[in-house]
Amino acid sequence: MLSLQALLPLVAGIAVPVAATAGTSACSNISTQLSSSKVESNELSLSYIESTEYWNTLQDDYKPACIIYPDSAQDVSVVIQAIRAAGSRFAIKAGGHNPNTFYSSVDKGVLLDLSNMTAKSYDEETTLATYEPGGVFGDVYEYFAEWNRTVVGARLAGVGTGLALGGGMSYLSPQYGMACDSFRELEIVLPDGQIVTASNETNTDLFFASRGGGGNAYGIVTKYTVQSRPIGEFWAGNLIYLFDQTDAVVEAIGNFIEYNTDPKAAIIGTYEKLPTPDLDLNLDEAIIMFLVYDGPDPGDAFKNFTYISALLDTTGIKTYTEVVNMPIPFSTEISRGNNMFRVGVHRPGNNSYGNALDEWRNWAESNKGKYELLSLDFQPVPKSLTDASKAQGGNAMQMPDGPYFWLNYLISTPSGMSDADYDAVQASYRDLVKNTGNAEGLPLFINDASYDQNPLQTFSTFSKLQEIKKKYDPDSFFADYTGGWSFA
Ligand SMILES: Cc1cc2nc3c(=O)[nH]c(=O)nc-3n(C[C@H](O)[C@H](O)[C@H](O)COP(=O)(O)OP(=O)(O)OC[C@H]3O[C@@H](n4cnc5c(N)ncnc54)[C@H](O)[C@@H]3O)c2cc1C
Repeated sequence: MLSLQALLPLVAGIAVPVAATAGTSACSNISTQLSSSKVESNELSLSYIESTEYWNTLQDDYKPACIIYPDSAQDVSVVIQAIRAAGSRFAIKAGGHNPNTFYSSVDKGVLLDLSNMTAKSYDEETTLATYEPGGVFGDVYEYFAEWNRTVVGARLAGVGTGLALGGGMSYLSPQYGMACDSFRELEIVLPDGQIVTASNETNTDLFFASRGGGGNAYGIVTKYTVQSRPIGEFWAGNLIYLFDQTDAVVEAIGNFIEYNTDPKAAIIGTYEKLPTPDLDLNLDEAIIMFLVYDGPDPGDAFKNFTYISALLDTTGIKTYTEVVNMPIPFSTEISRGNNMFRVGVHRPGNNSYGNALDEWRNWAESNKGKYELLSLDFQPVPKSLTDASKAQGGNAMQMPDGPYFWLNYLISTPSGMSDADYDAVQASYRDLVKNTGNAEGLPLFINDASYDQNPLQTFSTFSKLQEIKKKYDPDSFFADYTGGWSFA
């Protein structure tokens, strides 16, 4: 396990020296204002242990001075003011899946765990849905399914609601845009503790920045009001191929990115690599395609994939709950480990998908033993998605017209690695992604980015976001006392 000292240099935005007692002093102040059931500082309690579990398990060792479980915007406001008065570090945790250190984790400071904020409502007249930030998208979907509706959110049931603040890519995105495009109103506790509403009518700049400009930056969202979407039967499933189909599948992915025009059809193509020696049999490799069609009959949308002979085929009619539990339920939880993400962005053409894949495979071969799992995920951004985003006013990325695609590079490192080996393998993986190059003028996807990729700087709206950040976090309280994306 890596030491805190080893991780500190990796983290942006925590350069401000903080008194060792600031966390405990914030906690005792909060204890006088909130009921004891909302404050936990016993490191051995079940709730404390659960709250300090992260998808990137390297963060599990951090010990917040206390964990606060607010159940309203008013509670959040009290907590933020107390943290500010004490000058303590803090972190805001929804689902805990952002792998970047100190984005939703904190050592010795105050952890705001939003898991008790789970209220939801549905208005049948307006078809607007509301949900609070606690819990995971699977719970949110379950609630609205009663009306055969859903919200645009994660493709995996186990991911938390912070996803939407980073944009949020769903299987429904080719039809309705990113998750944040469906926001209609947000309740936000600002860095000074004020509780405000942000929408197209009020605090419009804050509303703009919160639609995909990242969590953890402009305040704490305590309620989302979003346009819900209808759901019925889906045709969906996984096709699992062995690597003798590598070239055929990547060509099919490329064709889908370039030529599919049916917004009801969505895919992710994932290439997986294990650390075992391949003995020239390629048994260390597999390809898992996720195919999802919003409706019972996909027509020819996926025929380039279904023509290729697969080892396993789970496609068929599914409910939305089944769709977001592919390939197997609890895959978010099962995949916990020493995980880190990186992201690339490319236009189709010039075999850009094939080139990126080749370079990634070469890296995987020459770094055997330095990872437990590697995956490379192709995520298409079709024109229908960027059109749907624009039709709703556009988000903080002001997404240029598709098609293009985001590549998610996951690396899961073995536990027990020395700090030096960990740093070296992360630097080498960073260089692989950097040297693969990115398309000019396209935004890097925040939700898949590593902190050092500074994704906000790739947005055409960067200077506008800097202004908004300055307005809502004028004394850099969030910028200095919690992790998050760089606005510098
Ligand atoms: C297994 C897995 C599957 C994924 N699938 C998808 C996918 O399908 N689509 C996609 O777009 N992304 C996906 N992601 C990426 C995911 O969107 C990011 O990891 C996201 O940060 C997760 O949000 P969270 O609430 O779980 O995590 P957290 O780490 O709790 O939150 C993420 C960030 O947002 C901040 N934040 C959270 N809630 C609030 C709030 N209410 N107010 C202010 N700030 C807040 C946190 O402080 C943190 O910085 C996936 C990630 C994993 C690990």
